[in-house]
Amino acid sequence: MMEIKFNVLNRLNNDIQSMIEAKTLEVIRKGHFVMGPEVEAFEKEFADYVGTQYCVGLANGLDALWIGIKMLGIGEGDDVLVQSNTYIATVMGITMNKANPIFVEPNIFHNFDDTALEAYVTPRTKAILVTHLYGQATKMDNLQAFCKDKGLYLIEDCAQSHGAHFNDQMTGSIGDLGCFSFYPSKNLGCFGDGGAIVTNNHSLAQLIRTYRNYGSHKRYHNDVIGTNSRLDEMQAAILRIKLNHLNSYTMERKALAERYLNGISNPLIELPKVDLNCEHVWHLFVIKTKYRDRLMEYLEENNIQALIHYPIPPHLQKGYSELGHTLGDFPIAEQLSQEVLSLPLYAGMTIEEIDYVISIVNSFEV
Ligand SMILES: *Cc1c(COP(=O)(O)O)cnc(C)c1O
Repeated sequence: MMEIKFNVLNRLNNDIQSMIEAKTLEVIRKGHFVMGPEVEAFEKEFADYVGTQYCVGLANGLDALWIGIKMLGIGEGDDVLVQSNTYIATVMGITMNKANPIFVEPNIFHNFDDTALEAYVTPRTKAILVTHLYGQATKMDNLQAFCKDKGLYLIEDCAQSHGAHFNDQMTGSIGDLGCFSFYPSKNLGCFGDGGAIVTNNHSLAQLIRTYRNYGSHKRYHNDVIGTNSRLDEMQAAILRIKLNHLNSYTMERKALAERYLNGISNPLIELPKVDLNCEHVWHLFVIKTKYRDRLMEYLEENNIQALIHYPIPPHLQKGYSELGHTLGDFPIAEQLSQEVLSLPLYAGMTIEEIDYVISIVNSFEV
């Protein structure tokens, strides 16, 4: 029997593997580890890739959200609209700034629902934070117009959507700022933690650049009290190599997803839907079924590892009990948490492996 892991992070092709090994050795021998030429070059290349003027490398994706929101001046007493089914880190980016997350239920594509937003907006509302969840770009046109009309910031959590476009604009370049994670399992991942903010706003980029380095613009001169959230040279060097291959990784993911979409025909299972003009880069391939736990068990019996993204929505997390929400407050997110299941899908996965998963999924019965 085959064994299918949810993700295999070291299945890079040999060329890339040897380029990365040579490059990391070069960085080690050069002896410049923090705030050096690799980070500077990566920032420029990643900004070019996303289509923004600026990119600031950071220590991780959560810091990108936290610092991005903070540098927009959002804090205590302010509200930020956020989708109810997102990953907890999205919400933490808001609450770390002492702002209030106002949950909005997702649409059928698992993304931010842009209908009926009026009801959520009060004088406290400062921003809308969208997550391009599972790798599918959110429909941004109405949200952009709405934010412009109401004077709200539009913030993108792109931790799962590297390279995904809405129409012809890449996610991260559409709102006021885009927050990225380069955690190893993301579509563009380094060999440790990493993150970045992209933006077209020069003064915002400057603020972030200063804040990530103790608030110091010039060595030992601290204009503000910042933090230490820097991308290091080793990670930047690895990211530069992998960025050159991101489009081919995305094509691989799309081909694998297409094979799932065409191959899975079990009536007990609902396949993911893709919205018009919202590119999906398949960070995760998320199916839905009323028999989720039984299916997961059945896959396990057949040596296939599936995961749930996410089993508890943020508003029901114990750590967020202070927000005062209870079961029933966000029924769509709650139902999703009972029904979603992510099947293995990663760059480097073989057709044989995908076909094995398809055949097992199709033979599942209750
Ligand atoms: C991974 C992730 C983050 C956090 O990124 P880290 O680098 O792990 O801090 C934030 N939001 C979403 C949607 C994520 O998937």
